[in-house]
Amino acid sequence: MTQAAIPHTSNTSSTSATFKNLTCKECGAEYELQPIHVCEFCFGPLEVTYDYDALRRHVTRETIQSGPNSIWRYRSFLPVATDNPIDVGTGMTPLVKSHRLARRLGLKNLYIKNDAVNMPTLSFKDRVVSVALTRARELGFSTVSCASTGNLANSTAAIAAHAGLDCCVFIPADLEAGKVLGTLIYNPTVMAVQGNYDQVNRLCCEVANTHGWGFVNINLRPYYSEGSKTLGFEVAEQLGWQLPDHIVSPLASGSLFTKIYKGFQEFVKTGLVADKAVRFSGAQAEGCSPIAQAFREGRDFVTPVKPSTIAKSIAIGNPADGIYALEIAQKTNGNIESVTDAEIVEGMKLLAETEGIFTETAGGTTIAVLKKLVEAGKINPDETTVAYITGNGLKTQEAVQGYIGEPLTIEPKLDSFERALERAHTLDRLEWQQVLV
Ligand SMILES: *Cc1c(COP(=O)(O)O)cnc(C)c1O
Repeated sequence: MTQAAIPHTSNTSSTSATFKNLTCKECGAEYELQPIHVCEFCFGPLEVTYDYDALRRHVTRETIQSGPNSIWRYRSFLPVATDNPIDVGTGMTPLVKSHRLARRLGLKNLYIKNDAVNMPTLSFKDRVVSVALTRARELGFSTVSCASTGNLANSTAAIAAHAGLDCCVFIPADLEAGKVLGTLIYNPTVMAVQGNYDQVNRLCCEVANTHGWGFVNINLRPYYSEGSKTLGFEVAEQLGWQLPDHIVSPLASGSLFTKIYKGFQEFVKTGLVADKAVRFSGAQAEGCSPIAQAFREGRDFVTPVKPSTIAKSIAIGNPADGIYALEIAQKTNGNIESVTDAEIVEGMKLLAETEGIFTETAGGTTIAVLKKLVEAGKINPDETTVAYITGNGLKTQEAVQGYIGEPLTIEPKLDSFERALERAHTLDRLEWQQVLV
């Protein structure tokens, strides 16, 4: 296979750049900071490495806190050279101390990291795309693209529009209406592929080889994936420059999970937080749980599956970073669990009813797995536990349609209201009686 015609690729390094090269995660071979993602020798994935001595000397809690109120306060830990990154207010989402959900589950120190309200497209993907498109621009790409399970398409289309980059995204044809509309509004070219995500991804690998486009999660993947570290950095900063004891996060390709880990390690390595053993637990939907299956069977390899679940945003049957996620869960004494679609819907409702946060199916998966782990005694009630909510429920409305209440339709008259209220109370009482028997 011939390498695509790649646009101008000088590293445009500025003196403040602290990222050094790309290193193969398997064999350690080093590469220049090009738009490449696999090792020529062993086909292992490439990862960005930094000059940690320079970071330790130059970055302090104060320099970070005096930076922008976005992911770019951690710019020294991100693989871009420019002093003018694409900043659309991504990041610094709330870390909410949970009271009602925590009590319901029997936990004392539960926090919700709420990326359902991330900017601009209400999912954690805005983090990875802000970094990838900033790097794409630096590398000279004028057209950006992605293989998406939905949220990535929203984010790539929106941030490309903001940056004035041409955009063509690829999605499976059967995505939720909100995800498709939430992409089309930015007016990119949208390819709805008749196949599942893994087939979309395979097609995109071929397109990346034949067109000189910057695919955020293919040829730009080493840069893109670094954006997820900010979900580790922010939690550490928001906990008062401390690491939590336990995190629970959803797993699709496994990238987010491994990068939260890398983020925590980098903060330890550069002296920004004290070292601590953090347990890493991952959440998958039963209808697409190749990493959970491998964990359950104590394997060190992941067998691909064909996805079938309502949690489409995390339905990746052949997860690129699956083995690394598996390894982290195993070595940190964490867990990887899966839950049914019915449990995912219950998880979405539970989070909404107790915390006022409407998350999408991926967040429902995380909450349902959190509950399952607590019930199995695998989360200690005293542990400081952070549950990562990565997307917004307004985008996957069909998942809960038919499983939630209905409005009480009334006439614009007081007595009509009073009668409806009485009926509602009676229904409540009946529900309680059912719970009690
Ligand atoms: C993409 C996505 C994830 C997980 O992504 P990884 O491929 O594991 O990095 C989790 N939640 C939501 C809502 C997503 O869109």
